[in-house]
Amino acid sequence: MKKTIIKDKMKNQVTFQNLKESILDLLYPLRCPICDEIIVQESIFPGSNRIKIHEKCMNKIQTIDEPMCIKCGHQLLEEGEEYCSDCKKSPHNYEQGKALFVYKSEMIKSIYSFKYSNKREYAKFYAEYTYKKYNQWIKRIQPDVIIPVPMHKKKKKKRGYNQSEVYAKELSYLTGIPVDTKCLKRIVNTKPLKELTTQQRKNVLKKSFCSENLINKYKKILLVDDIYTTGSTLDAISEELKLKGIAEVYCISICTGKGY
Ligand SMILES: [Zn+2]
Ligand SMILES: [Zn+2]
Repeated sequence: MKKTIIKDKMKNQVTFQNLKESILDLLYPLRCPICDEIIVQESIFPGSNRIKIHEKCMNKIQTIDEPMCIKCGHQLLEEGEEYCSDCKKSPHNYEQGKALFVYKSEMIKSIYSFKYSNKREYAKFYAEYTYKKYNQWIKRIQPDVIIPVPMHKKKKKKRGYNQSEVYAKELSYLTGIPVDTKCLKRIVNTKPLKELTTQQRKNVLKKSFCSENLINKYKKILLVDDIYTTGSTLDAISEELKLKGIAEVYCISICTGKGY
C-alpha cells in the first residue's frame, strides 16, 4: 500500500515536471545549439525526443567515436591504437576522460555562444547527448558527485555564470548524481591559456585550485568542463583533489581538440 502511494507520488512528480517543461517550452521555445533557430518537435534529431537539435545540424558536427584514446578520450585516427600521442608522452593525474564533439567549425560557434552570449540553454543538448553516449560508463564508475571546473569569482561575476556549472547541473538532473559547486575553488585568476605551451600551462595552473578536505565526503569524482585542450586544467584539479582525499577522478568535456 505504502509502495503504491510512493509510486503514485513519483508519477505525479514526473507529470508535473513534464507539464512545467511544456509550459517553459511555450514561453521560451528551445533553440538549436548549432543554428540557434527555434526547434519544433518534428525537426528534432531522431532516435530520442530528448536530444534538442535539428537533424540537419547534428549532421554538421563531428562526434567523437571509436577509436578513441582510452585515457583522455581524444578521437584517434587509426584503429588498433590505445593512446593518443599526447597521452603516450605524458601521464595524466586523472583516471579517465571522455568527450563528446571535435572542437571545430560549428562546435566552436556553439561553445562560444554558450560561454559568452548567455546561451545557457545549449547545456540541455550537451547534457542529453552526454547521457545518451556515456550513461553506461557513468553507471560503471559510480561517481559520488559531479564537480564543474570552477571559474574565478571575479570572472564569474563579470560573465554572470560559469558555463561548466550550467552543464554540470543539467547532467545532474539526468543522472541523479548531485553537483557540488562549493568544495573546489579557483583561487588564481589566470589569463586565457590558449597561447601557452603545455609546460607553461602547468606552471600557470599550479596552485590555482583549492579544495576543502574531502576525505570523508567523496571517493570518486566526475569533473566536467567545456573544452579539453591539453588536459592541464583537469590534471591540476585532479592533483589538488587527490591531495584532499579523493581516490579517483573521471572527466567529461563537451569538446576536445582533434586527434593527434
Ligand atoms: Zn539547427
Ligand atoms: Zn589521450
